[in-house]
Amino acid sequence: MNNKVHNFSAGPSILPEKVFEQASSSINNFNGKGLSILEISHRSKDFIDVLEEARSLAIEIAGLDKNEYSCLFLQGGASMQFLMTAYNFLNENAGYINTGSWSTKAIKEAKLFGNVTEIATSSDKNFNYIPKEIDIKDIYDYVHITSNNTIFGTQFHSFPKTDCPLIVDMSSDIFSRKIDFSQFDLIYAGAQKNLGPAGATMVLIKNSLLDKVERDVPSMLSYKIHLDKDSSFNTPPVFPIYCILLNLRLIKDEGLDNISKRNKIKAELIYNEIDRNTCFSGFSKLEDRSQMNATFNLNEGFDGEIFNSLCLKNNISGINGHRSVGGYRASIYNALDYNSVKLLTECMQEFESNN
Ligand SMILES: *Cc1c(COP(=O)(O)O)cnc(C)c1O
Repeated sequence: MNNKVHNFSAGPSILPEKVFEQASSSINNFNGKGLSILEISHRSKDFIDVLEEARSLAIEIAGLDKNEYSCLFLQGGASMQFLMTAYNFLNENAGYINTGSWSTKAIKEAKLFGNVTEIATSSDKNFNYIPKEIDIKDIYDYVHITSNNTIFGTQFHSFPKTDCPLIVDMSSDIFSRKIDFSQFDLIYAGAQKNLGPAGATMVLIKNSLLDKVERDVPSMLSYKIHLDKDSSFNTPPVFPIYCILLNLRLIKDEGLDNISKRNKIKAELIYNEIDRNTCFSGFSKLEDRSQMNATFNLNEGFDGEIFNSLCLKNNISGINGHRSVGGYRASIYNALDYNSVKLLTECMQEFESNN
């Protein structure tokens, strides 16, 4: 057994080793200029090049039209987007689909700005499924959904159709699969799940959405002002953006098609074991299972401490479930290797045969 730690953390979470290597070397000497990435001006050409490459790569990877959509890197996490989206776009009524803790928090913030209708919710079953066949009236300034529910381990596999602008919190599954990104008018993602380190939030926004802003918005919370200033209205999170760029380059090289396939294979491996193994049960409804966060519980009568120490012995880290679900959560983001998932399933098998 080597010392490699298999990191199943839900976030901040695993990133490709190559990102760590390149980011580390840029801390000592960025672009061979004898300065650290941590000390260069955000107005320097070297950093403006980083920012512009990251912004255009994000749009390219998403397959969006660069004349129609813009990319921003903002601070305040996805949680800031809960209020920014409402502040900018909630004039009268907004519709929210509530599929878990993060949507619930987004709803709470939006209520400060206007009427919020919970169009559908899965709260009746502790969010273990995704509501389907939702009839969405065209009365909303926008409709907000959470594409992947990091805590409960459910994921939209097809998205609701609506004539209203569609806003999506894609924090925990951005660029994990090939989808039609143009069905959304605004996509936001806190970086620390699948993109980069904490400290930057990526926003992909349809430019035409900005025409719908009716109220005065403070500068720091205004998408328009951040866009007018090319995502540098104030000092942007330089280092997180640089790390995101390094990751976006890898994502582009591999391609979303290949990434989708790889993630699907990893998800099948862990879910097949959960379903086969007599000691464990999956938490979320089969058809709504997340390809990023696999949630499962230990069946009654088995000793969690024994399984935990087996995982510890095998350098498996970060699989404890969120306190609102309990049990286990294996986060299997893009950067997690198939062999790490395989090792976890082997631990589950070993646990079963010892008990
Ligand atoms: C983690 C997470 C958030 C919160 O992100 P912060 O950057 O901590 O504000 C919001 N939505 C989803 C889906 C998440 O997974």
